Amino acid sequence: MNDNRLIIISYRLPFSFKTENRVTSVKASAGGLVTAVKSLDLPPSAPKPVWVGCADFSQRVWEKHKHLVNDDFEYVPVFLDKTTNKGFYNGFANSVLWPLFHYFPAYIDYHDDYLTAYKAANQAVCDKVVELLQPDDLVWVHDYHFLPLPMLIRQSQPSATIGFFLHIPFPSYELLRLLPGKCRSYLLNGLLGANLVGFHTTDYRVHFLQSVRLSLGFSHRLGTIVTPQTKVQTGTFPIGINYSLFHDASADEEVVQERLDLKRSYPDKIIFSVDRLDYTKGVMQRLDALEVLLKQHPDWIEKLVFILVVVPSRDQIQTYWERKQMIEQAVGRINGQFGTLTWLPIVYRYSDVTFSQLVALYTACDIALITPVRDGMNLVAKEFVASRQDQQGVLILSELTGAANELGEALLVNPLDEYEVADRLLYALTMPPDEQRQRMITMQARISGYDVRQWANDFIDALLTTQQADQTGQ
Ligand code: UDP
Repeated sequence: MNDNRLIIISYRLPFSFKTENRVTSVKASAGGLVTAVKSLDLPPSAPKPVWVGCADFSQRVWEKHKHLVNDDFEYVPVFLDKTTNKGFYNGFANSVLWPLFHYFPAYIDYHDDYLTAYKAANQAVCDKVVELLQPDDLVWVHDYHFLPLPMLIRQSQPSATIGFFLHIPFPSYELLRLLPGKCRSYLLNGLLGANLVGFHTTDYRVHFLQSVRLSLGFSHRLGTIVTPQTKVQTGTFPIGINYSLFHDASADEEVVQERLDLKRSYPDKIIFSVDRLDYTKGVMQRLDALEVLLKQHPDWIEKLVFILVVVPSRDQIQTYWERKQMIEQAVGRINGQFGTLTWLPIVYRYSDVTFSQLVALYTACDIALITPVRDGMNLVAKEFVASRQDQQGVLILSELTGAANELGEALLVNPLDEYEVADRLLYALTMPPDEQRQRMITMQARISGYDVRQWANDFIDALLTTQQADQTGQ
């Protein structure tokens, strides 16, 4: 990293305002992207980085309280009107792109006015970025909310250095072609405005390169696409976690206490999962697998508990609140079917959990059951592995997650096959401690070697290389 100023663009800014008893305070938000960006090794001489994102507060609130947001970043909120924001975020981003990119075409709810709002929001963010852009700045655009943004910025500032990272899968062309041709070209062309486009896995990168060739006719050479106007490099950067944060936290006093409480409440085998409420996370199929296990192996009745934490998310969208109802019905059904007067198989919580509760759950459980039907990466799997200072615990992981590429020592499963998942659960419930340790040690070595700091630094270094190559005409 050198002394260039960094401009980060993401849908959300990494904080929100909270008012209680008429006192407003700032609440910092966590999450993969925030941790990643905040752990970048910026040289002390580098100018203060700027973070541009869509505001979930009004301009009035911002003017009044912006002095409270005082850290290493300069924040630039973009204020979208309600209708635009809804069509952009709930509409095109989360009712078209999210289901499409996660292989749920039946969940796509396409409307032209969603696309209009998506274009308007991208233009509004572009205008803000262009207003503050200086020569030598590095622009880093994040995620599917802003696929057209690199090209919009490039059109205003042809010599800008722009990186784009996609945090979700890039689907095969067969999926992408479901979008109307004009819309598809617009999105792909948008990405071609970047100097560097990064993905979590090689598969996603290959899907992108194929889509550009089949949709726009531009071939690539060793992952670099050259068009009459631009030269775009692509790369694979599997996002990591803050490994030492999770590893060290397992010995924190608060975590130790929470873990003891959990172990006392649930003395038998604990199976654990935590996901945002989302149809991509495979919670229904996971419940089916538990049902199969208890049906086929009733000797496990009263000898295990499944702690299922679902974190509220996007519940304004129909497919999300419907999913919540489906999960709650299934939990009720399975608890009714197998529960006894003194025991229930599933402990269900629809809420977020604190960091120490999360680490206590990661470290108290015997099995982490992480079975999304599609997930760009899945950080929960990596956090579970990092937390296990005791090198015990079994990870059952869906092979349809990006994380499965790095966690081959997990018990990998097809999440749609409830019999296979039930079988792996049974294996995990009786896995000898030595085998657990061997698997865990290998996974820990791998993910501690490529943590989130390294990920962010690698991306920025690769972006700088594209800039230098352009300057020397290579
Ligand atoms: N997480 C959280 N609040 C909670 C539980 C979990 O912020 O109550 C975090 C968790 O630690 C992880 C992230 O949410 O870092 C989930 O990331 P993942 O990649 O697994 O899934 P995503 O939600 O991004 O699809």
